[in-house]
Amino acid sequence: TASRQPSDLVWQQANFDQLTALPNRHMFLDRLHNELRKAQREECFLALLFVDLDRFKQINQRLGQEGGDLLLAEAGRRIAACVRGSDTVARVGGDQFAVVLAGLEQIVCVERVAQHIVASLGRPFESAASAAPAQVSASIGIALYPSDGAEGATLLRHAAHAMDEAKADGRGRYSYFTPDLQAEAQLRQRTGAELREALAWQQFELYYQPIVNLRSGAIERAEALLRWHHPQRGMLTPADFIPFAETSGLIVDIGDWVFRQAVRQVKSWQRELGPDFQISVNKSPVQFRSDAAFYQGWIDYLAEQQLPPRSIVIEITEGVVLDGPRHVIDRLRQFRAMGLQVALDNFGAGYASLSHLKKFDLDFLKLDRTFVHELEDDAGNRALCAAIVMLAHKLGLRVVAEGVETARQRDALVAAGCDYAQGYVFAAPMPAAQFGALAKAGLALLS
Ligand code: C2E
Ligand code: MG
Repeated sequence: TASRQPSDLVWQQANFDQLTALPNRHMFLDRLHNELRKAQREECFLALLFVDLDRFKQINQRLGQEGGDLLLAEAGRRIAACVRGSDTVARVGGDQFAVVLAGLEQIVCVERVAQHIVASLGRPFESAASAAPAQVSASIGIALYPSDGAEGATLLRHAAHAMDEAKADGRGRYSYFTPDLQAEAQLRQRTGAELREALAWQQFELYYQPIVNLRSGAIERAEALLRWHHPQRGMLTPADFIPFAETSGLIVDIGDWVFRQAVRQVKSWQRELGPDFQISVNKSPVQFRSDAAFYQGWIDYLAEQQLPPRSIVIEITEGVVLDGPRHVIDRLRQFRAMGLQVALDNFGAGYASLSHLKKFDLDFLKLDRTFVHELEDDAGNRALCAAIVMLAHKLGLRVVAEGVETARQRDALVAAGCDYAQGYVFAAPMPAAQFGALAKAGLALLS
């Protein structure tokens, strides 16, 4: 109503920044206080990001006040576009912004937003005030509730302190207030950068683990497992680096290397061990985003090596298939149409998916090691295992048990009718040369 308008305006001016229309420092601290109370109640964590534009003074001089103002307004919009609608973005100083991220589950979410903001503010700013677009960068400091403080003012101070560190480190980056978190983030950033070099410097190697026919004891197949010989940190297993390869997209190139390496290896082993020998390779969900043409390259490579496509088995984890969008299922069908075989990996590790089995074109079902380990002391689990094997057989699948560590587990699997097994009770993953010798000698395993 007419009488309320002037006071609304006063309220507006007291709480919002006129230039960017974002909450001002006063309003920000107010909201932060509320978010902190909520986080405390719900026992979740909260992140405060303090964003400072690098060398803004110089830019302001070059663009003039008006140009500088426009750039700040655009910067505010870009930051807001990097977060969810429910997150708070405020202008807390001349060229300083703050962001509250609430209701978070993982620290990597915070980092993703920080990365996103750094990248977004790093894009050129078009401006009417000058012909050349202005180039700005931003430094971000991150403080977390509860570990870095319980009060809004404390968190803001700590985030600003971390921002200073980011500037001291070379600007255009983010830094955590907590030294441990900072060290971890640096490790992640460094691992990502080093992964880029690893292919070029041939630091990857495939290890192979025997997959044993439980009836004959013969080694009929090998699972290729990736290892990274890191120049400083020694040999790393997939858990140490696959997540970084996935977020950076490098997994596509690495997966391509794995495939081609496995093809060359299976060719040589088919000559030595028999034409039916197979190698299975793992694929991460991210790799499914590549289009159909990409995989045609694989089929061409197999043809070039004069190998039947069935020489390679593609392993995909259960979660990928079940939660997977349409294109995952399409890609699976494409693999099958190309003649590659497909194994559903980590079956029984948390998804109730028996009924889904028939929906997909699969050749193998791999029982997860958690499931295998439960066979030992529980007759109910052994009955369940036998039922799964029977159902899989009815659907035309063969069953491989993973992570078999004891003779008792192996015997239970034999009794359940399981076809194949792999695990430390037979052999751990090993370099190719060693595998070749072992497979030729054969394993006296089932005695
Ligand atoms: P996965 O496919 O489930 O592979 C089996 C993992 O169990 C391997 O770990 C293997 O070393 C380990 N293992 C084998 N036998 C036993 C046993 O008896 N007991 C126990 N506790 N573990 C056993 P690894 O090599 O560390 O690989 C971990 C995961 O990384 C794999 O799980 C796979 O999902 C992924 N991975 C491996 N190589 C590649 C790759 O080339 N590309 C992609 N995208 N993922 C890969
Ligand atoms: Mg696997």
